[in-house]
This record gives sequence, structure tokens and C-alpha cells, in this order.
Amino acid sequence: MQTQEGVTRCPQCAQQIRLDRRYVTWCDKCDWNVDPSSAEADQPAWRQRLEQRLADTLYRELERGSIHRPGWDAARLGAYLLSAVVLLLPLVGLLGGIALLTFYRPLWLSIPLSVIPFGMAVLLRPRAHRLDPDAHLVHREQAPALFALLDEIAEAIGTKPIAAVTIDAEPNIWFAPIGWRFRPVIGIGLPLWTGLGPQERVAILAHELGHGKNGDTRHGWVVGAAAQVLDELQKTFSERPYDRYREDVAHAVWLDHDPTPALVTRILNAVIGGAARGYGWLLEKVNFRSNQRAEYLADRKAAEIAGSDATAWALERTLLAESSCRALERALRFDKDVEPLEAVRRAAAEVPAREIERQVRLSRLRDTRIDSTHPPTYLRTKLVRTRPAQHALVVLGTDQARAIDQELRPTAEAVLKELRQELPR
Ligand SMILES: [Zn+2]
Ligand SMILES: [Zn+2]
Repeated sequence: MQTQEGVTRCPQCAQQIRLDRRYVTWCDKCDWNVDPSSAEADQPAWRQRLEQRLADTLYRELERGSIHRPGWDAARLGAYLLSAVVLLLPLVGLLGGIALLTFYRPLWLSIPLSVIPFGMAVLLRPRAHRLDPDAHLVHREQAPALFALLDEIAEAIGTKPIAAVTIDAEPNIWFAPIGWRFRPVIGIGLPLWTGLGPQERVAILAHELGHGKNGDTRHGWVVGAAAQVLDELQKTFSERPYDRYREDVAHAVWLDHDPTPALVTRILNAVIGGAARGYGWLLEKVNFRSNQRAEYLADRKAAEIAGSDATAWALERTLLAESSCRALERALRFDKDVEPLEAVRRAAAEVPAREIERQVRLSRLRDTRIDSTHPPTYLRTKLVRTRPAQHALVVLGTDQARAIDQELRPTAEAVLKELRQELPR
């Protein structure tokens, strides 16, 4: 690899910088080229500063230790209230329909009229999270070592045991309550999972289960259901090809075109669609801070369970998930001799500390800039590291880690086979 490395000078501050052609060249003294794609940033500087300041104030609250446990902070309460109002809409529809049928006569008129509120109730009903019918599930019997680890983490945190695990090829690891019985399911994305060391895996799993313990999943479900209702409203009350079609039909049937129905549609679209959009925006903003705080607190749980060091490393590793995805796709498409997951493992292990440092600095520039669901990684790792170091409560040994890999192998192979078929040749 000697030929790929060398030394060059920073064009901005003339500092000597190391060159590695496989990765972005950047300056650690003045941050030159930390974000090579920054040209596309269209956000004004004042907004970037404002968002960075907001991120910093929340961080300091947590650093001072003024927030000890997840609770009913104002942002969370506000998001719940805003959501509750929205989730009452289908109920209003249902009751309205029943009232119409009961009290309004003649019946031949009340029946067709009641279709509108009943339709609203059906359209806007809250829905349970469902797994994709093609999801690759791993059950308890298939993976005793993995479930032993999950049980140990769940017990240490004090939360319900995991019901099932799904395997996919996404660059993340997630936790969701599935169905109306809200069965806790963990999703393991192979590109991220493969690049993590054993204790880092414990940290990420503990972070996810920590969300469950802290009530974030319930909160997420309520806010998510409300956001879905608002989305449905917005879609129903926005100009669609169907509106045009209806206008054309009306035009063809009654040759003297009456503009009233079209006008009514447009007014309804503007009022209800616009209100739904505005309300959705408000809900998102109120929820933003509550979500970010939840992430810090889940990190804290992870540090208690997996240890501070492993948690901070795991968070940094997460930044490489996207490039692990690319390594996986490359291996599937071109590298027939190497086992695809082995290629991911190697790619993740090869990443120099300097590239990870660049990604961490990039998170400062980028993750405060966009409305991301997670706080910037540089603050998350900083918080984990500045708190008194914690020793791991749950330790994943090499043998058990290997056993887990073996258990997941058949499902992982099925996932990779599917991915290979989807990729262009
Ligand atoms: Zn420089
Ligand atoms: Zn999280």
C-alpha cells in the first residue's frame, strides 16, 4: 500500500498533511476539505449557526447532569398533546357517522352522507407497525446465543425480552414495536453489524433497547401515527391527476362548464391540506428536541451496559456504515472470490483513524445543519467520554460472538442472495 500513501501540503494553511488515495484528503489543522461535498450546502450561515447553538445548549444541559432520566419534558409533553389532537380525528369521524345514521332522517339520505365521516375514520385510522412480509426473521430457537445476549442486555436495562430479530442489508440497527401487541423487534443491518467488534455490538443493541426502556418507542409510535394521519390528510387534500380527470368529465357531461366544484376542491385543498402541512411542521419541530435528548439518554444507557469506551467507538463506527454498504455491494458485484461479509469486515478494519476523525468532524458540520434524527456524533461521543468511565455490565466474549455469527449465517446468506439479484451487473 506504500504507493497509495504520501505527503502533501494543505492549500489553505500550508500544514503538511498525509495523503491516502483511498480516502478524502483533508487538513486536521484548519479543517480544509473535511466536507468535500459542502458546495451543495444551500443553508444560510445564520441558520447553521443557530442550529449549532441549539445543539450545543442541549449538549451542555446533559453534560451538566441537569437531566438525569428521561421524563415528561416540555417538548415531549407538547409533542404528545399535538399528536393526541390529530389521533382524535378518526374517532370524530366514526362518532359523526354513527350520529348521522342515528339522528338524521330520511335514511336514504343519511346513509350516503355517513359515508364521508366513516371514510374519514377509515382513511385516518392509526396503524400498527408491520414487518415487511418478505423480512428475514430470526427466531429464538434458531439463535440461542444471540437471544441469550439480547436477554442479558434486556435484563440489565430492565425491559421486556426481544421477540424476534430481522436481518437486512441496511446500514443501521433499529428497534420497533410490531403489531398491536407491540412486540419488541430488533432489526440488524449487515453492513453496520459486520463492521462492529463484539463489545461495540453490545453497545448498539443496548442503545436500541434503552430507547424501549426510556419510553421513546411508545413516544415514537404516537408521534409517528399522528404524522401519518397528517400525511394522509395532506395527500387527500392536494391537487392530484384525479382532480383534473374529474373536471374533464364534468366538462364533457355538462357542456356548459360550471366552475363551482373545481373552485370548492381548490379551496378545500388549500385550507385543509395547508393546515395539515403546517401542523405537521409544528409537530416535527416540537418533537425535534425531545428526540435528540432521547438519543443522548439512550447513549448513556449503552455506556452503562457496554462500557463507555465501547459505546464511543461504536458511535464512531456507525459513521462508516454507508461506506460499509458500498464495500458490500462492490464485493457482491465484482469480487466473486471473497466472502462478501468478510470484505465488509476487512474494509471496516482497514479504515485509518484519520478517516474516522474526519467523519466525526464532518458530523459537526453536517448533522447540526440538517434536521437529523440524531444529534451530531461528535457531541454524542464527547458526552460519553467526558462522563466518568463506566465498566461493562454485559460482556460479549469472542466465542459467543463467533457463535452468533454462525447462527446468523443462513439468514445473512439469504439476505445477500436477494441483494445480489437486485444489484445491477
Ligand atoms: Zn490546513
Ligand atoms: Zn437511537
